Amino acid sequence: MEGALTARDRVGIQDFVLLDTHTSETAFLGNLKKRFSEDLIYTYIGTLLVSVNPYKELDIYSKKQMDIYMGVNFFELPPHIYALADNAYHTMMAEANNHFILISGESGAGKTEASKKILQYYAVSCPSTTLLDSVRDRMLVSNPVLEAFGNAKTLKNDNSSRFGKYMDIQFDIQGDAVGGHILSYLLEKSRVVHQNHGERNFHIFYQLVEGGEEDLLHQLGLESNCQHYSYLVQNECANVTSINDKNDWKTVRNALSVIDFDESDIQHLFGIIASVLHLGNVQFEADSKGYATLNKNTELRWVSTLLGINVQVLQEGLTYRKIEAKTDEVLSPFTVDHAIYARNALAKAIYGRTFTWLVNKINDSMENKEPSRKTVIGLLDIYGFEVFYVNSFEQFCINYCNEKLQQLFIQLTLKSEQEEYEAEGIGWEPVQFFNNKIICDLVEEKHLGIISVLDEECLRPGEATDFTFLEKLEEKMGSHPHFITSVNNTRGGECSEFAQLVLSIHCVCVCVCVCVYVCTQVMRQSKNAIVRECFASTESDSRRRPETVASQFKSSLLGLTDILMSKEPWYVRCLKSNESKQPGRFDDVLVRHQVKYLGLMEHLRVRRAGFAYRRRYELFLQRYKPLCPATWPHWRGVAAEGVEVLVQHLGYLPDEYKMGRTKIFIRHPRTLFATEDAFEV
Ligand code: ATP
Ligand code: MG
Repeated sequence: MEGALTARDRVGIQDFVLLDTHTSETAFLGNLKKRFSEDLIYTYIGTLLVSVNPYKELDIYSKKQMDIYMGVNFFELPPHIYALADNAYHTMMAEANNHFILISGESGAGKTEASKKILQYYAVSCPSTTLLDSVRDRMLVSNPVLEAFGNAKTLKNDNSSRFGKYMDIQFDIQGDAVGGHILSYLLEKSRVVHQNHGERNFHIFYQLVEGGEEDLLHQLGLESNCQHYSYLVQNECANVTSINDKNDWKTVRNALSVIDFDESDIQHLFGIIASVLHLGNVQFEADSKGYATLNKNTELRWVSTLLGINVQVLQEGLTYRKIEAKTDEVLSPFTVDHAIYARNALAKAIYGRTFTWLVNKINDSMENKEPSRKTVIGLLDIYGFEVFYVNSFEQFCINYCNEKLQQLFIQLTLKSEQEEYEAEGIGWEPVQFFNNKIICDLVEEKHLGIISVLDEECLRPGEATDFTFLEKLEEKMGSHPHFITSVNNTRGGECSEFAQLVLSIHCVCVCVCVCVYVCTQVMRQSKNAIVRECFASTESDSRRRPETVASQFKSSLLGLTDILMSKEPWYVRCLKSNESKQPGRFDDVLVRHQVKYLGLMEHLRVRRAGFAYRRRYELFLQRYKPLCPATWPHWRGVAAEGVEVLVQHLGYLPDEYKMGRTKIFIRHPRTLFATEDAFEV
């Protein structure tokens, strides 16, 4: 609890629920800022943790700190990510049910760092048996590997997650962390072939080229110079001060051996990464008829060697389209543009599928095959909300994903909380909040939403263009209050509110058929075991039209929502302190904006007016009846009346609790802690 007034003045209030009666946004920000200036980056709103990115290393993540937080009541120590992790863990153990920690915030706010701290806490602090140490090691080292392949420098964040990650940490009945499982969501594959100005490709490419041992580079036909590779030099930012590719390479190499990668896997894996780089350097020229030919095929030979595919077959795949006529197949030559498109599509497909393969491989290595009962804590760390000057399909998906998670948060906290008070007959002044369901519907509604319109357009290859797509959107949803677009200006724009979706549509209506031939038929002949496995799936064989990427993404998000809804939620809301990644700088306007769109004030209002703790009468009585002679050992009457007698005996003040229809509601956690402590007296 808060100490003397002087200390409180200096470090602010550690739980916003305890802020003085008038909880204005200004007071809220003032408190955050005061704490931030003292390097106190964590603050609670009840059990929700607010974290402000300090952009500097703080000495608060040591083993000693972990020990301090182990098993201590949530509000007894200063707010910390370890306290939240510990509380989730102990609740899971006590209630034997599943939980998840939703970490949200915009790009660069600190989600991935937070998720790593939580994982470390579980790996280091939970009870341990030597047998299981290997599983923990694998869980821990899965991070640098996935970050190498799935993170990249963007304008917002030098280590930006370009895929969504949901990781279940499994615990056995003793509370040991015994296994893990990762689900990954929509990797931003387009980055492999194109990066915006000031951004980089995925880290792994630079790590390999900068850090790879001479022998290895020689085997892969690579030069130790990023400038040599057209997929890496588009934006002249191969070197970033905050990133040490050479060191990271070593970490990744070590990590791979921890996760059961044998030498042949490693050879194949880096063969693939190198082949993508070589592919990017394959150039085409137009012949006299304007069709694509290869001007020199050294690079293609390397691709062919590394992937174990006949060079002729590969060349044909990149420069011809196969058309199936009635009785036989006809090869129709590509123009240079089409050939470049096919080359890039192939590079993206290879990289994307290898990433999925990698996730599966990591999952195999973390799998716990014991049939015993397990409970899980799921960690959700996705790509944060982002708006650039030019935005494309990726930002559309990323921001849609963030809207969905915001919706989940609203449903689970604001909406269900208030509905519960109503259902329980607790007197309640409803708190107004913006429900972003309208935004989610705009994107995903069946037959009406943006994704449906996009799917329809994808059924008209050759006819549909970005422009026709935009026109259709205008026609269908032009009058929607949250749809803003300008046919004349499709090059992005300001997005001032979370609730406003500004779409800039480029390269959305993409005709996928061009690369189908190359990607599946050719790759299946690969002698590289990983590539063969990656392209072996049978779904592409089916005659059915494949689902569009947007539809697939929508379904996977619905799946994720179902997974989360079946578990108990915990929240970490990460805030970005400033745009320039400067240590210790607190940009009031930027933070205020995030506090607004994350709905933190509404959450605080509901929390303040509401009750931190609730329990069914029967359960409450069962737990605390030993504390009162009238209820111990048996209360023979109605449970609610027993609880009333019990809390009177414990001296609860009228304002501290309310009796609902089926549950008791307790305003502050401290009341409950005092009750728990009474056991020890
Ligand atoms: P994205 O959505 O782009 O993936 P993110 O929210 O995951 O963004 P992080 O990668 O976690 O953002 O954080 C960005 C950077 O901010 C980190 O690389 C680190 O430099 C700094 N940072 C974040 N959290 C902390 C922290 N708790 N202590 C010190 N530095 C931090
Ligand atoms: Mg991240």
